[in-house]
Order: sequence, then C-alpha cells, then structure tokens
Amino acid sequence: MAVEKTITKRLETLDSILDRLRASIKKNGLKNSKQREEIIAVLYNKSGMHLSPEEIANQLRMKDKNTSISSVYRILSFLEKENFITALEADKTGKRYEIAAKAHHDHIICLNCGTIIEFVDSDIERLQIDIAEKFGTQLISHDMRLFVLCSKCKTNS
Ligand SMILES: [Zn+2]
Ligand SMILES: [Zn+2]
Repeated sequence: MAVEKTITKRLETLDSILDRLRASIKKNGLKNSKQREEIIAVLYNKSGMHLSPEEIANQLRMKDKNTSISSVYRILSFLEKENFITALEADKTGKRYEIAAKAHHDHIICLNCGTIIEFVDSDIERLQIDIAEKFGTQLISHDMRLFVLCSKCKTNS
C-alpha cells in the first residue's frame, strides 16, 4: 500500500509567500492590510488543515475580536484569484481553503464530520496519467476527492 497519511510538504517559506503577497498588493493598487497576511499565516501554519471562512475568522478574532466575516470573504477571494490559496469544495458545508504552496496531494473527506485527510498514492497518480494517454491526451492536472465515512463516524452510525 502506497497510501499514507502525512503532513504535506510546504514548497515555499512563509516569508517568501508574504514577500510575493506584498508585491501583488502593490500591483493591484491595494493598501497593505494585516488581515491578509494573517490569513496566509493561519493557513500556512495549520499543518494539513483546510479551513472554512468562519474558522479562519475565528482564528483572526483571537487577535482582533472585531474581525468581520465579510472582510474575510473578500480577502479569501482576492487570495484565491492571485493563487496564494486554493479552495476545496469539501461537502455541503461549503468551501474550505488551504495554502497553495503545498506539494501535490489528494483528499479524503468525511461526509459526516468533515474530517479531511491528505494523501498521495503513487499507483493512482500513475494510473491517471495512463488513462489520459489511453485516450490520446496529456494529463495536465487532476482533482481527486474520496467522500467517505471516517473511521470514527463509520462505527457510530
Ligand atoms: Zn467523520
Ligand atoms: Zn489539502
């Protein structure tokens, strides 16, 4: 079995991402805001975490209790558009976000409790390339999500 649960490697340091963020803010004619940088830091530091806008807002509220959810939504859509973060359509509860500078991985998502497990399976990676080639195409990317009942939810249902 090639499947394993690991903490996916970050491909860039937080400082380097924040440098790029400041450049992109300048390019877009925006003012610097602490909140943008804090959201990046939260998503960078929470290893293996995929956070909802509400969970991100709660993290920010530990430093500034006046953080509004609408400004968090606004920042998330900017950061997604600029490719600093990626959205994961997890389940009916909506989008969750993770830092973009992570090594490639796929997701296992519990439909009951929302637990998300990251994994990479070399056989599945290879198979997807083979299937694309079988149809005379070249694989550019893929997005694989397995919807499950996790080990806890499975036994409680
Ligand atoms: Zn579960
Ligand atoms: Zn992930």
